[in-house]
Amino acid sequence: MSSFTEENYLKIIYNLSAWQEGEVSTNALAEQTQTRAASVTDMLRKLADKNLIHYKKYQGVRLTPEGERVALQVIRKHRLWEVFLVDKLGFGWDEVHPLAEELEHINSEKLIQKLDAFLGHPSADPHGDPIPDPAGRMPHPEHCRLTEVVPGQAVVLVGVTEHSAPFLQFLDRTGLTLGCRLEVVEVNAFDGSVQVGISGNAPQFVSQAVARNLLVS
Ligand SMILES: [Zn+2]
Repeated sequence: MSSFTEENYLKIIYNLSAWQEGEVSTNALAEQTQTRAASVTDMLRKLADKNLIHYKKYQGVRLTPEGERVALQVIRKHRLWEVFLVDKLGFGWDEVHPLAEELEHINSEKLIQKLDAFLGHPSADPHGDPIPDPAGRMPHPEHCRLTEVVPGQAVVLVGVTEHSAPFLQFLDRTGLTLGCRLEVVEVNAFDGSVQVGISGNAPQFVSQAVARNLLVS
């Protein structure tokens, strides 16, 4: 059985490797976990001893199949709890991430099976992130970032890659909800901001930083 912190490390390594090729660096982990490189190294030795990661000093880390299995279980629990909190308890999508960070560490296979069935086996969480199936297979839906969409194209908002409350509250105020229709009118060549029509309303500008965190298909 892995501890709370070990599970978080495995999850972070999984997420970092999803965005890059090859090994995850100790520095990237120190940055993500906001701990000193020395403490990161201690934890990595522990995880390697348990055969959850491949780790060689100065070469970075990679999950073993068992490490990946644990990471995907934690991610599955996190996302199912987020669905529960929003759909059944009425939380906003801007409130659930910190709560799910705690709930994801409850270790009961029976609880999570019942939760999954109770929710009707959802395929995505309230932020549009896919939910791994009980066997730990992660679906990979087709999507791109709003910054990659050429003007004149119409797309649908299917996910967000930033889960912080201020970001999600901004989306709420702007009418950017999952499933809404977006029409890219123009990309500002100077600062990369995107002029976009949201659900058929008059076009408005969103900053490049916002557009980069919107996934569309
Ligand atoms: Zn979350």
